[in-house]
Amino acid sequence: MAQSALGDGPHSQLIIRGVMLINGNGAPPQGPIDIVVENNIIKKIEVVGYPGVAIKDSSRPQLKPGGKELDCTGMYLLPGFVDMHVHIGGKAQGASPEYVFKLWMAHGVTTVREVGGPGVEWTLDLRKKGDNHEIVAPRIITHTFFGTGSDKPLSTPELARAWVRENAKKGADGIKFLGAPPEIMSAALDENKKLGLHSSCHHAQLNVARWNVLHSARAGLTTMEHWYGLPEALFEDRTVQDYPLDYNYNNEQHRFEEAGRLWKQAAKPYSEHWNAVLDELLGLDFTLDPTFNIYEASRDLHRARRAEWHEDYTLPSLWDFYQPSKISHGSYWHDWGTEQEVAWRENYKLWMIFVNEYKNRGGRVTAGSDSGFIFQLYGFAYVRELELLREAGFHPLEIIRSATLNGAEALGMGDKIGSVTVGKLADFVVVEENPLKNLKVLYGTGAVKLTEDNEVVRVGGVKYTIKDGIIYDAKALLNEVKDMVDTEKKKLNYKILQPGIKE
Ligand SMILES: [Zn+2]
Repeated sequence: MAQSALGDGPHSQLIIRGVMLINGNGAPPQGPIDIVVENNIIKKIEVVGYPGVAIKDSSRPQLKPGGKELDCTGMYLLPGFVDMHVHIGGKAQGASPEYVFKLWMAHGVTTVREVGGPGVEWTLDLRKKGDNHEIVAPRIITHTFFGTGSDKPLSTPELARAWVRENAKKGADGIKFLGAPPEIMSAALDENKKLGLHSSCHHAQLNVARWNVLHSARAGLTTMEHWYGLPEALFEDRTVQDYPLDYNYNNEQHRFEEAGRLWKQAAKPYSEHWNAVLDELLGLDFTLDPTFNIYEASRDLHRARRAEWHEDYTLPSLWDFYQPSKISHGSYWHDWGTEQEVAWRENYKLWMIFVNEYKNRGGRVTAGSDSGFIFQLYGFAYVRELELLREAGFHPLEIIRSATLNGAEALGMGDKIGSVTVGKLADFVVVEENPLKNLKVLYGTGAVKLTEDNEVVRVGGVKYTIKDGIIYDAKALLNEVKDMVDTEKKKLNYKILQPGIKE
């Protein structure tokens, strides 16, 4: 197949042969199946045989003149992944859109929801280029940071409403909040809902005492990000977090260290109040987008810092950004030790119980990465997110549903993407190994395996990412990223060194 950077296709007809299908709808794997795509639309999904029995060619969909066949015999095919929480690079990180897009696409991420970027015009320009296939990019949904582009603070409900209308007019899909006074949140969410747009919120501590996740859900927020605001909604014997009296929010060691003690201040799992909050959120059709991975360094800094992909795929500027700093956001390990990590492990347990139970009672949980901070690398971190959903108690099929159909539904795009269904867009992930057995096979660096002959090998890594009917060689994309990183390193004579180590 053509290895051109811009992918192969779309084709008047594309037949993907012989796959094991893992659909995003919770169905078990099924195969062998042939999938017929015309341009960017799925036209036919046909079971063509039985396990262990040779497939009869005569019973398979026939290739039309000018069509393209992709032999994926025995490989696993999934719907394209939806990453519900991304930032398209960033100045501080020195990560270009090209770099992050290729890392996402190399990991099967075909749709991203950008929750806050430099501005809606900038993002929509990238979206247009992606939609026109001028660049390699996932489809982009954009939520503008509340207030972006305004020349004055949105200090009244009227100003908030006017900004929301302007944001919609510019073509944004929604708003990303970080919290605001109650009257501003109410007005903005109300106006946004009237316009039919979506919304996301990271309930930052500065406003959470008066407006937590429950207030947001009641006012029509569609998805909550991370977890802040949820323990606060679950408080029973306090109304603010137990801040030490010398706490300063602008000191990120304070901020993250104390956050690690927050869940245990909330109502106990399955207590009356805990159940009541969970059930009310369920009743409001509220979506949880936990982004477990982005906090993982808090419970195991060494793991995040030493991830094997940093050497080849992390840009020097990004590595610099991750280093402990009083300035860079998320670089909070000024003095991070056993005490902080153990507290965070306990924090995770309580958080995961809530998220898993929310799923069990029918709630929508999605997969989001928030990469580019805290040693979490684009694409790789998304796979880690899937692993953490597994740790929270999700069956691998529930994880795939979170990563695909749930994301699509939370975006209001359930009729277009999120499952392999006739009539939907042709967005797929193809991998040679079974990701249900080991999610690690989705990492670009693959999974480690010992062969019968006692040889250590790598297996997996996404093979093809197909978006809009265009086939991308996922490993070629990853190589292009490595080249970018190598070039940067050569230019700067740079070597990745661990914090505090000087050569
Ligand atoms: Zn974020």
